[in-house]
Parts: sequence; C-alpha cells; structure tokens
Amino acid sequence: AIQVRALHKYFGKNEVLKGIDFNVDQAEVVCVIGPSGSGKSTLLRCVNRLEEPTSGEILVEGIDICDPEVDLDGVRSRIGMVFQQFNLFPHLNVMKNLTLAQRTVKGRSKDEAVEIARRNLDKVGLAGKESAYPAHLSGGQQQRVAIARALSMDPDMMLFDECTSALDPELVGDVLAVMKDLASEGMTMMVVTHEMGFAREVGNKVVFMDGGVVVEEGLPDAVLGEPQHERTKAFLSKVL
Ligand code: ATP
Ligand code: MG
Repeated sequence: AIQVRALHKYFGKNEVLKGIDFNVDQAEVVCVIGPSGSGKSTLLRCVNRLEEPTSGEILVEGIDICDPEVDLDGVRSRIGMVFQQFNLFPHLNVMKNLTLAQRTVKGRSKDEAVEIARRNLDKVGLAGKESAYPAHLSGGQQQRVAIARALSMDPDMMLFDECTSALDPELVGDVLAVMKDLASEGMTMMVVTHEMGFAREVGNKVVFMDGGVVVEEGLPDAVLGEPQHERTKAFLSKVL
C-alpha cells in the first residue's frame, strides 16, 4: 500500500506538485489521469524515489521512503516500474534482460532466475522468446518483456507510466490485457494512463490531476461519468 501526504516537489522555483494526498490500498488499482505537465510522472517517480520529494510524506508498506536513512535499493526492489519507453537492455536477449537484476540485486542462482523468468514470460504471453533481442520484437512485445522483467523481482506493487502511449494502436490491447490479469491477481497498481476504457473497467479508483494538485478522485464511473469539477469536465471532453 502507498500513502502520500502533503507531497510537494519543486524543480528549481517551479512547484510541480503542490500538496498531493492520496492512498493506494493493498490490491487496489489506482489510475491517474490529467493533462500533459500536470505532474503525473513526477508523482510516480517520487513514489519510487527516482525523484526526491521537496517535502511531505510517502509511506510504502508503512515505511517512510523520504527518510534520509531509508534503504533506497530495498524500496525500489519492491516497486516495479514500467515506462512509456521500454528501457530494455538492447545488447541483451530477453532471458538476460529478465535475469540480470534477479542475479545482481536479489542474488538468485542462475537456475532459479531462469525459472522465474520463464514463468513470467509465460504469464505475459511470450514463452519461447527467451533468446530474442529487443530490436527484433514489436513494441508491444518489448513492453510485455519489460513487465515480465519487473515481475521477476517479486514486487509488492507496480507503477505504470503511460506504458501503452508509444505503441501502435493494434498492440495496445495485448499490454492492457496483461495489466488486467495482474490486477485480477491482486497486484497493487498505480497506472498513469490515457486509456479511459482501462481506467473504467480495471481501475478501482481514478485520480484526476491538473496543475500539480489532485482536483478530483473517486470511483471510475463517478469521476469519468459524472465529473464534479469544471477542470475534470474540460479534460474529459477532450479525451473521451
Ligand atoms: P505528460 O502527460 O506530458 O507525461 P506529466 O503529467 O507526466 O505530463 P510531469 O512530467 O510530471 O508531467 O511534469 C510536470 C512538470 O514538471 C512539467 O512542467 C515539467 O516541465 C516539469 N519537470 C518534470 N521533470 C523535470 C525535471 N527533471 N527538471 C525540471 N522540470 C521538470
Ligand atoms: Mg508523464
């Protein structure tokens, strides 16, 4: 579970997050929507400490990850993150992409790492692609490899930042299907997305951000179907 309290983030004098509060409960799927520049990626990056919050509190499984004493590698190894750009290692085949961090960070034996990798490749529908290089896979396949790689670290939760936005439209569905499966297995997920259908169908909660604040949050049908705030209405009228 994630608890965010009074989170502020400045880049220089630019206040990008202006006091964010929200929770992601165990096994909950929270979809974050909002216009470009509203701070969605910055928020996600603060949650796994790719960015350092300026002030506020972020508790991940009860641990304050803003505490200077915190074990950041430990925190990050429990939070899987998948980005818009696939971020696979281009010079490593799929199996090596999936086993590298298992071996170096988790200290697993080769056999164990390979077995876990195989299980997760199977889960994302890519059994048999072990020896392929990323450049020889479609964007959708690469993104599913990236998900399998994150899952191979046994994360407590997964963060997705517009992970289907760079894909050709016909490849988006396969990736969303994998995410939907994960959700149904009870994975705790925070999903920044423009896929309103996914948010509505799979999300337990939708958070609408604009200008560095949470403008509105609630059940997907409520936020997407009957938005209360003008800014939410204006945004949805452009994307729906
Ligand atoms: P998009 O939908 O386009 O991905 P976003 O909601 O994810 O947008 P962020 O990427 O979080 O928005 O950016 C929020 C603001 O923070 C923007 O004004 C951006 O220019 C600024 N910003 C983000 N990262 C940095 C950085 N590393 N240094 C300085 N400014 C940054
Ligand atoms: Mg972003």
